[in-house]
Amino acid sequence: MKAIILLGAPGAGKGTLAEGIRSSTDYLHVSTGDMLRAAIKAGSKTGLEAKAYMEKGELVPDGVILRIVGERLAQGNSTDKYMFDGFPRTLEQARQLDETLAKLGASVNQVFLLEVPTPVIVSRLSGRRICKGCGAVYHVTNIPSKVEGVCDQCGGALYQRPDDSEATVLNRLEVYQRQTASLIDFYEKKGILVRINAGTNPQAATAELMSKLA
Ligand code: ADP
Ligand code: ZN
Repeated sequence: MKAIILLGAPGAGKGTLAEGIRSSTDYLHVSTGDMLRAAIKAGSKTGLEAKAYMEKGELVPDGVILRIVGERLAQGNSTDKYMFDGFPRTLEQARQLDETLAKLGASVNQVFLLEVPTPVIVSRLSGRRICKGCGAVYHVTNIPSKVEGVCDQCGGALYQRPDDSEATVLNRLEVYQRQTASLIDFYEKKGILVRINAGTNPQAATAELMSKLA
């Protein structure tokens, strides 16, 4: 089994990069954010538990996250390669992941830290728009759709994620500093942290990551 992690502040481009890697490798993309949004849409118990936290930009409790990730791992994947996006986000999640992988005779192989200056992050998140139909990601100025508010790929309507409003964005960045940034140290000490310059554009960041993927 192989496991890699995409680590970085909200808006660092984890989802966009994951899409690039997924399409040119056989890693399964495991995004806890996407799983939680799907749970909310489906109105499941997990969705009900997660909704209020997400709207405020707070972290969903570790127990909920570890349950959904555990369920996903239990389903398996034919290639046995996993790319975690937005997980782990706390030391507790990181430790539990290590334990789960150890039981499977595996460990985290590489952690890619996506480095982006804060002002760039704020502008990326507050301008981000997402297709209701296919989930494609746009940006009002950086990656505009051809017709405003309409997806180029499927014609679906574009919307702003409720947690991308400016006030919530600032809170998410604070939460990242308070609860997630310590993971940088945690993985650096293990010698598996790989820094990626994600402040320019997705193509460059994807190319850098692919060249460093072991
Ligand atoms: P971003 O990285 O841009 O914040 P995500 O889609 O990864 O976007 O996460 C959106 C929200 O989902 C987070 O603000 C948090 O509320 C919740 N969430 C996602 N992953 C986790 C996690 N591993 N632990 C706790 N909460 C999470
Ligand atoms: Zn679309």
